[in-house]
Amino acid sequence: MIIDTQKIENILLGIRQPDAYAVDDILVRAFSRSGLSLEDAAALLSVEDPNIIERMLKKAGEVKEKVFGKRIVLFAPLYLSNYCTNNCLYCGFRKDNKNAVRKTLAIDEIVQEAKILEAKGFKRILLVCGEDPKVSGIEYIIEAVCAIYRNTGIRIIHVNAPPMDVADLKRVKESGVGVYQVFQETYHRATYDLMHPSGKKRDYDYRISVMDRAMEAGFEDVGIGSLLGLYDYKFDVLATIAHSGHLFERFGAHAHTISVPRLRPADGSPVKTAPFPVSDMEFKKVVAVYRLAVPSAGIVVSTREGARLRDEVIHIGASQISAGSKTEPGGYTNEVRGERLEARGKPAEQFLTDDHRGLEEMIASIAKNGYLPSLCTTCYRVGRTGADFTQKTLSGDMEKFCQANAILTLQEYLLDYAQNGAKELGETAIKRGIEAIREPNLKKEVLKKLDEIRQGKRDVYF
Ligand code: SAM
Ligand code: SF4
Repeated sequence: MIIDTQKIENILLGIRQPDAYAVDDILVRAFSRSGLSLEDAAALLSVEDPNIIERMLKKAGEVKEKVFGKRIVLFAPLYLSNYCTNNCLYCGFRKDNKNAVRKTLAIDEIVQEAKILEAKGFKRILLVCGEDPKVSGIEYIIEAVCAIYRNTGIRIIHVNAPPMDVADLKRVKESGVGVYQVFQETYHRATYDLMHPSGKKRDYDYRISVMDRAMEAGFEDVGIGSLLGLYDYKFDVLATIAHSGHLFERFGAHAHTISVPRLRPADGSPVKTAPFPVSDMEFKKVVAVYRLAVPSAGIVVSTREGARLRDEVIHIGASQISAGSKTEPGGYTNEVRGERLEARGKPAEQFLTDDHRGLEEMIASIAKNGYLPSLCTTCYRVGRTGADFTQKTLSGDMEKFCQANAILTLQEYLLDYAQNGAKELGETAIKRGIEAIREPNLKKEVLKKLDEIRQGKRDVYF
């Protein structure tokens, strides 16, 4: 059994709102970066007193800084195809959405999209596609990955693609993919069955076991998540934490990322509003609890959320955010061309995004908020992955690397891509970042590498 859902139900049945003392006690333990038991996580999720919630959010922000420093990693999704043989009730790509204009990008169109993202300054992208073996099967995904690496300066590609067998996952890994991501959507079996009426995705067990297969296939870094809004968020958050715990017990590495997607409106999907709505305050609690419970994980908040909320979550534990995202295949190319595609039939989006800020605006905003925007991709490329990554983050070693590499990649960005808003704010963030480095030797090395970058050297890292 990967997770014991009955145990989670029992914990939730027995939970009483903890008082301030009990919460402080949990937070003191969480500050040591040892994570949280499911009981403690449930207790924190049940807190409703705004003052106590504030304390939790603040502590989660402190744990994030202890683990990763001030850095916030930026990435962009690249949608390959919106054909899908599944029928997820909440998704615009579902098979029965007959009004959706369908498109599968040709390999040269994929490269074109990646080049546009590269020209904006992105180094890290996430390939996303619907599930249709005939048009976006394993061969296609691998070809896309290889073509992007061959033809662009994108440094790391992650993939959010349907569950596969070990043999296929091995091939995806060998093509150079960093993180393999699949969201369970909901761990509550009855809700899962209801939301996934047909197609291969109907198989709950095949989906929940995919991360075990991915790790068996050699993926050291995997990304998990629950789609908030489908079922009681407390249940799904505890189950996600338990899933990460299972991976740690079996493979020595926690989930590399935990994404926090919340249900958004999607054209052509029968689920118009969330059956179990999650408020902004609850969303923030979720981010904080993930951070406290799985301190080594990258907590990912996408453009599904609005600008104000995304600016807030970077203070409470989120460590990775996307920017300027398009959720339809070919979206970046169409944006550059400025074509009025509505008239000619724009490929269907998966869902509507809420934060429309582009990369430069995001970088400026992160810097303005006192954080350090990072375009770093080093860990995957030098093998600081899996169990090694989990251990380094928990021992505090990662903070040094992350902070230093964030400074270096931000400097590259400011020299090569920043056009207006981010320049000054970015330079200030770099200065602050250098001042925060405590080890004199590391600081000296960072200054040396910064000079190399200013003199034209690129892709410099620790
Ligand atoms: N098709 C693959 C799958 O379902 O695993 C991979 C990509 S799917 C396009 C990526 C994720 O988008 C899904 O796992 C789901 O959590 C999320 N998603 C789908 N519809 C959504 C919606 N209406 N609002 C927010 N997120 C949504
Ligand atoms: Fe297809 Fe994924 Fe959308 Fe489900 S969530 S309809 S599997 S693209």
